[in-house]
Amino acid sequence: MTDQNPIVIDNHQLFFHPGETILDVALRNHIFIPTLCHLKGAIPTGTCRICVVEVKGENEPVPSCSTAAASNMVIYSESKKVIEERRSIIRTMLSSGNHNCAIRDFDPKEWTQFQLEVLEEDGTNELCPVWGECRLQDLAYRYQVKTRGLPLSRCKYPMEKANPFIIRDFSRCILCGRCVKACREVQVNNAIDFGYSGSDTKIVAGSDVTLKDSDCVFCGECVEACPVGALVPDNFLEKKRFEKTRKIRTTCSFCGVGCQLELNVQKNKIVKINSAGDVAPNHGSLCVKGRFGYDFVSSPERLTSPMIKKNGRLEGATWDEALDLIAEKLGQIKETSGSDSLGVLTSARTTNEDNYIAQKFTRAVLKTNNIDHCARL
Ligand code: SF4
Ligand code: SF4
Ligand code: SF4
Repeated sequence: MTDQNPIVIDNHQLFFHPGETILDVALRNHIFIPTLCHLKGAIPTGTCRICVVEVKGENEPVPSCSTAAASNMVIYSESKKVIEERRSIIRTMLSSGNHNCAIRDFDPKEWTQFQLEVLEEDGTNELCPVWGECRLQDLAYRYQVKTRGLPLSRCKYPMEKANPFIIRDFSRCILCGRCVKACREVQVNNAIDFGYSGSDTKIVAGSDVTLKDSDCVFCGECVEACPVGALVPDNFLEKKRFEKTRKIRTTCSFCGVGCQLELNVQKNKIVKINSAGDVAPNHGSLCVKGRFGYDFVSSPERLTSPMIKKNGRLEGATWDEALDLIAEKLGQIKETSGSDSLGVLTSARTTNEDNYIAQKFTRAVLKTNNIDHCARL
């Protein structure tokens, strides 16, 4: 960055790197510009236009995500014109689908009445499953967009629940294209794309088949990218929306890559897993196991104590009993058959530290180099 690339945003004298967009410069300098279709690392398309800004000398606001910064540009990120355009975009999005979270129009005392009206209006008992966690809803609040009185357009595409991981609710889709970018440019899977045209436009999998009949590998990258309630994990319709979710950062236990996760926990139960953001080694991505494979955590079938086989039957035991038995048996085999008759299989699902201790134990205590791992353990 040099002072040869000056740009002014909201009266702040700033500088840009060649190749940066207006949005890049604003974000780097902590200036808020809202986005919906923009996905970090993907080619900007300017589809939703919520990131419009006013450029001095231009007649119309321009999308900041796809407009290159240029020398001596003077930008207004929240002028009256910009705010009006953003409000109009939000209003159009809210009125072109089933966006039944709009409690902002009501006094909290009318909440019950609101719920009744929602039930009446969309014919279901389901408020949006991402209520409170939706970028469009946040922006509607921020820009004070009301939806009361707006005509409600019906969606012709039914909700898809044909797989055990992802629900596709086309009625809440704002056609921002983030899911397509996430699938194509981040995961390089190319399972989904825009299909049809005009008011029939829809995100399709393959030749408009269900996700399970397409090339989808259920990595869930599209779910993480979706800014609204159009793509949600399968269990989300049961989620208790009004209970606070505790967020806990942890490491995925399925393999040795060590992807960083954020657990969403309600009443001591995991209700959703997100990636932990732009941190190594996964930088926001997860595979199907890391994102959806957490049922085992609260499974009633999970072992909670060691088991020892007695008279042909497995019986619960204490750790002291189990460890004493293992030490005794290993000692006997070592003495009678030699160290190299023993071997240790560890697991790619344990931590590096556990595997290190296992090899140390194998070599230093059992006195053999027979140590390996089995990915299926
Ligand atoms: S997707 Fe967002 S804006 Fe639409 S109903 Fe759900 S919470 Fe509201
Ligand atoms: S789950 Fe993964 S592969 Fe399937 S559509 Fe979403 S991003 Fe593409
Ligand atoms: S499914 Fe979500 S991410 Fe994909 S286009 Fe619709 S709103 Fe955007």
